[in-house]
Amino acid sequence: MTFDVRSLLAPGVESLGAYQPGKPLSELVREYGIDGAIKLASNENPLGPSPHAIEAARAALADVARYPDGRGYALKRALAERLTLTPSQITLGNGSNDVLELLVRTFVSRDAEAVMSQHAFGMYELIVRAVGARPVIVPARDWGHDLDAMQHAITARTRLVFIANPNNPTGTWIAADDLVRFLTALAPQVLTVVDEAYFEYVNEPAYPDTIGLIARFPNLIVTRTFSKVYGLAGLRIGYGISRPEVAAYLDRVRQPFNVNSIAAAAAEAALADRDHVARSIELNRTGMRQLREGIERLGLGSIPSVANFLTIDLGFPAASVYEALLRLGVIVRPVANYGMPNHLRVTVGLPEENVRFLQALSKVLPH
Ligand code: PMP
Repeated sequence: MTFDVRSLLAPGVESLGAYQPGKPLSELVREYGIDGAIKLASNENPLGPSPHAIEAARAALADVARYPDGRGYALKRALAERLTLTPSQITLGNGSNDVLELLVRTFVSRDAEAVMSQHAFGMYELIVRAVGARPVIVPARDWGHDLDAMQHAITARTRLVFIANPNNPTGTWIAADDLVRFLTALAPQVLTVVDEAYFEYVNEPAYPDTIGLIARFPNLIVTRTFSKVYGLAGLRIGYGISRPEVAAYLDRVRQPFNVNSIAAAAAEAALADRDHVARSIELNRTGMRQLREGIERLGLGSIPSVANFLTIDLGFPAASVYEALLRLGVIVRPVANYGMPNHLRVTVGLPEENVRFLQALSKVLPH
């Protein structure tokens, strides 16, 4: 008998496409022999983490022979204090991806449905398919979530709704009024996850206080991360906020040591360094303007973004421009796998990185 791995797959796995991450700098060196490249492909903080976070990570190394505190006591307490919550409402994860996956594994059974938007962050579809459930993908409106249409897509089988606010890769956002209207109309037996990976960058008065809404809507969960403004993407740490009874079930499904001790220590120190966060947000604000103006000067359009990246409409298939930028040592993100073949997503970098990207782009655009 021949070995047929396909016949062994759990339901849903065959339909998965692996997540396509941004190209690492080391790969560009390996594949193209290009050194000194810049990476504006994964929405990382160009300033890096707070020096205090690095110090804390270093100090934590001394204790790596020990298992981490599986309850995450110190970090949960710091987060609870910052967010005026109780630690019992917090679920820590190996990146917020881990919390999103935990939610699916805890609440979405095989053959159930999860509703999400077209052009929404790609992990939602992947983790839902991985448990043999059905992603219901609702057409976007102006590149953003169409909450009315998402409401209509809910059936008796729906367990979970994903809302990315702001969304990646589009940078679109949802106002408090619209979110509250959606949650008010939602059946209480459907959970809503609002993914706020980029919320720190948003400077819109109408942006919701989603965590504050959990008191009113017990079926609401918010996820956040230390990967973006805190600059700790490589350590993998994020968190979820929910009602304690929701968190208690996530805790049953969670691996006992899903967050490593170095990440937890660094995150706690990063949280305390408010100046670094403020500097990072300010750098993003000016860098975003620099990118937007540069893009306009090149005669290109972009999707208005409240996050730390800008998604540019080339008006023609973007693959060749992506490749040509790579050859000039500039890594951005193609988003054809998001149903956006004409767009490229670029992360706001340091001022000189933004200039280098804009110059490279102007060189490789067809005249
Ligand atoms: N949500 C969104 C919208 C994201 O863009 C990302 C990172 N690309 C994540 C969640 C996951 O980030 P992490 O697992 O690093 O917290």
